[in-house]
Amino acid sequence: MEELILVRYGEVALKGGNRSFFINRLVRNIGKSLNGIQHSIIKDRGRILVEIPGGPNQLQEAVKRLKKVFGIVSLSRVVKVEKDLDKIKQRALEMVESQQAATFKVESRRADKAFPVKSPEICRQVGAYILEKSDNTRVDVHNPDLLINIEIRDEAYIFAGFEKGSGGLPTGTGGRGLLLLSGGIDSPVAGWMVAKRGVELEAVHFHSFPFTSERAKQKVIDLAEVLAVYTGGIKLHMVSLTDIQGSINRNCPAEQSTILTRRFMMRIAERIAAETKALALVTGESLGQVASQTLESICVTDSSVDLPVFRPLLGMDKVEIIDRARGIDTYELSILPYEDCCTIFLSEHPETKPRLEKILQSESHLEAEPLISQAVESREILNV
Ligand code: ATP
Ligand code: MG
Repeated sequence: MEELILVRYGEVALKGGNRSFFINRLVRNIGKSLNGIQHSIIKDRGRILVEIPGGPNQLQEAVKRLKKVFGIVSLSRVVKVEKDLDKIKQRALEMVESQQAATFKVESRRADKAFPVKSPEICRQVGAYILEKSDNTRVDVHNPDLLINIEIRDEAYIFAGFEKGSGGLPTGTGGRGLLLLSGGIDSPVAGWMVAKRGVELEAVHFHSFPFTSERAKQKVIDLAEVLAVYTGGIKLHMVSLTDIQGSINRNCPAEQSTILTRRFMMRIAERIAAETKALALVTGESLGQVASQTLESICVTDSSVDLPVFRPLLGMDKVEIIDRARGIDTYELSILPYEDCCTIFLSEHPETKPRLEKILQSESHLEAEPLISQAVESREILNV
């Protein structure tokens, strides 16, 4: 008797003509996430079955990893049985006995319509067999201790219960986006949300070395690693902002330094996006959270680039974002206290309602083009 994993992928199945494209991508992502675990993947009538021959520990590790693969709605550990009603009955009985369930219910799905016994009849016969053979269990159709599911496919599968997957769409089915990844709480969550909708991520991080430390840099790499578990790898661009921040500080009013810095970040990101063929920029901004995230500031920031800028956290409160960060395992890393480039050079009293004309005027005192090219060209690229 073999145990394997039955994967359900809800939304993907709705994608009409693109269906096989989505499913093939999901199968590929599943394979990638199981790197290092021996496995085989079988497609079977609207489900994916993953066979893990290496024993219970490997199976458990595989379930844990699959729960992070976007596009998977839920999964179950299932037992494969011959498509023979007597064998199915026997295995269902063993399940009730091994779990010592006081009450049970049987549900059944017959995906293979060639199987001669219809679903309600399968339920009835299996239920009757269990009642006959087992002394101390009874049926409870409303609130059973054990819900036994029987699915008739290329093989018969029996399972009890299921675990929730990450949902969303398979990474790589929705184009590429470039995430501006700080070391904070918000941007990893923003990246996760966009990746969840199928977008493949690259990330850019701005540092102010030597004013920011190696440990601050390592923190961002660690965050990218957590995200990469969901996305199947991330290319991380590390860009120095030190010269740009120095130049802004020497030539522009202090209260404008935040917004000017943010406009440079966007332009550098846009330049990198053009190289990597990313279609949009993604940030962790949430409306009104800080000075640089007032509606006025966001508009002035946006006008520095042509690419669309996605802000999936725009309408979320900090508490909601923190909840999500905990759920995806980035929170504990994000709150490590290493300094960020933005906290180093910036004014205590940034302007909250910047005016574009004034900002453009200040920028005219800066050698923007060479500063940007220099930052882009000297970047470091890591494959996380
Ligand atoms: P976060 O928690 O994501 O750091 P925040 O609340 O600190 O956000 P800001 O510092 O205004 O807010 O940054 C807003 C967004 O700009 C971030 O979510 C991120 O997308 C981007 N960003 C800020 N600093 C950096 C950086 N050093 N490198 C890359 N992107 C950054
Ligand atoms: Mg930040």
